[in-house]
Amino acid sequence: MTNLGSLSRQGKSLATVIAASGSFLIGMLLPMEIWTNQQTTTKATTVKTATNTKQINQSVNNKDTPLEVIKISSVVAKKINNTKQKLRELELKTFNFSVPKRFQSQTVKNVTLNSKQKVISLTFDDGPWNKTTEQILDILKKHNIRATFFVVGQHLNVRQEIGKKIVEEGHVIANHTWNHPSKSSKMSSDRIKSEIGRTADLIYKITGRTTNLFRPPGGVLVNGLADYAKERKHTVVLWSADSVDWYYRSAQQITKKVLNRASNGGIVLLHDGGGPRGHVVEALPNIIAGLKKQGYEFVTIPELLTIKDRELHQEELAQKREIKKQETNAQENKEPANKE
Ligand SMILES: [Zn+2]
Repeated sequence: MTNLGSLSRQGKSLATVIAASGSFLIGMLLPMEIWTNQQTTTKATTVKTATNTKQINQSVNNKDTPLEVIKISSVVAKKINNTKQKLRELELKTFNFSVPKRFQSQTVKNVTLNSKQKVISLTFDDGPWNKTTEQILDILKKHNIRATFFVVGQHLNVRQEIGKKIVEEGHVIANHTWNHPSKSSKMSSDRIKSEIGRTADLIYKITGRTTNLFRPPGGVLVNGLADYAKERKHTVVLWSADSVDWYYRSAQQITKKVLNRASNGGIVLLHDGGGPRGHVVEALPNIIAGLKKQGYEFVTIPELLTIKDRELHQEELAQKREIKKQETNAQENKEPANKE
């Protein structure tokens, strides 16, 4: 409960900062949309802002422009950049980890998207792990990609600094139990609570984040872990593109598996820990290049669910409008004809 309270407080203070930043930007005549909890919106915002900054620079590059105006414009451009940076940091801190309500207590293995924008989510399980997790973080950083890491509590406990780094570099950290039990037999309720609760507490202690994303080890849904996670309003996240990196040790083979199984709204399963994962590190640049070639952009799980949520919201609005239209037509048809 403390975690939820803190998250809510964070949200409130965030809203205040965003409102203040919003006033500033509006004051600067920037048609920015402040609500940036979706990557697509963030991108659009960046483009708009860049265009405006460019326009300011172009307009003051005229030889006749007084020195004062040039100075002011450079200060304004600097402030815009600072504000953009602050908003980005705040977005990473909070929005990154929230899941739309309709996906709470649901099991998701992918989402089907109508949009032409192709997105896919890379997920890494069983870490943090020595060497490989940080190598993967470096590759993701190089390509400016954010992913979702389903960590195992006992691994996080002995590699807390790596866990911190995952979050500091903008990735989402999520729960994959403490001991990684993947048997189908029903577990005791105490064990279930401890597997999920202990890991959640450690994630919070190390990163200050609460997570409501849970991935059951081995994708097993019948041993009680997934049910308990759903009771706690977690989204149970499976996958649609298994790299089979736990079986195949060849970078080439796992790259092929991912590229063949990729789909719009898909979730890719990879492993950064739980055993030797050098082949995953080796494959990752090729997986990224191959997916980019297929036109994919990379999003975290919360971002993926938010994109789908917005699509569904638009569809619901359209349906409501249609029903209202039909009701109005029916009403008009019912009205008695004018007496002559
Ligand atoms: Zn696992």
